[in-house]
Amino acid sequence: MTEMKSLFSTKNKSYLIQMIENNQIPNGLIFHGQVGSFVNQAAQFFTRALHCETSKTPCDTCNSCLAHTNNSHPDFIHINEEKTINIEKIRWLKEAVKYGPTSSNHMIILIENAQTMTPGSANAFLKLLEEPVTGVTFILIAPSIDMLMPTIISRCQHLFFPQSSSDKINTYVNLLDDASSIKEQCLENIDLLSQYLDTKILPPMDTYRSIADILKMDAFDRISYAQSIPDKQLATLFCKLWLKDIWGTHNKEEKTWILRAEKLIEIILNLKYNLNLKLQMEGLLLSL
Ligand SMILES: [Zn+2]
Repeated sequence: MTEMKSLFSTKNKSYLIQMIENNQIPNGLIFHGQVGSFVNQAAQFFTRALHCETSKTPCDTCNSCLAHTNNSHPDFIHINEEKTINIEKIRWLKEAVKYGPTSSNHMIILIENAQTMTPGSANAFLKLLEEPVTGVTFILIAPSIDMLMPTIISRCQHLFFPQSSSDKINTYVNLLDDASSIKEQCLENIDLLSQYLDTKILPPMDTYRSIADILKMDAFDRISYAQSIPDKQLATLFCKLWLKDIWGTHNKEEKTWILRAEKLIEIILNLKYNLNLKLQMEGLLLSL
């Protein structure tokens, strides 16, 4: 599988690569940016690049890159809580990092929605930053830096990720041409889709709902629909079809549609990184 084109700020990408080349990896990093800034993709890129055994950018073929693809790299912890990051999680983290990296020189702890730490967990987390373990780096992700505690901010390096422009979405959508042909093919021949999805069970293509249909659903129906999508392959295919739908039929200058397209691209990338399927799909459908 080739690495997806980077959609986050190229300036930040160069900065991150330089950090790796100079081997100056800080103990704490804050990546902040709204939906459409592809800040999660940036954090995943940085982690993979740092761990890659053959290159300063992810090669996708070495043992370390493959371990990341299989979500099994021993020096990577991903915190992605549903609601708040409670103090038990931070205590668990303290134990998990105390001996530092085991199979590489850097252990990365990626904390999504860092702004959801309770005051108690933020204070406990601050202690982790104040007593750093060699080779351990925390990456905090938040929509805005103002949502984090000033004492945490002052102990981290921060990088702001601007939102992507419609040009970048265009580039991305053009890469999706194969998805539209998949749709045409599977409407004609359901077996082809089944082959594509590499599954013996016929995929429930009849469960595909258009964006127009989804926009008519209330929150409850959207959540049930999100929960009915059985696996990541089908979810990814649906997201690609929705993206094509949005980008092909709506005004590309309109902020609402740009935001929806950006959200979809972000979910497609997130699904690639083995994030929680139901959580991703619920969040997506509720935000449309
Ligand atoms: Zn590699």
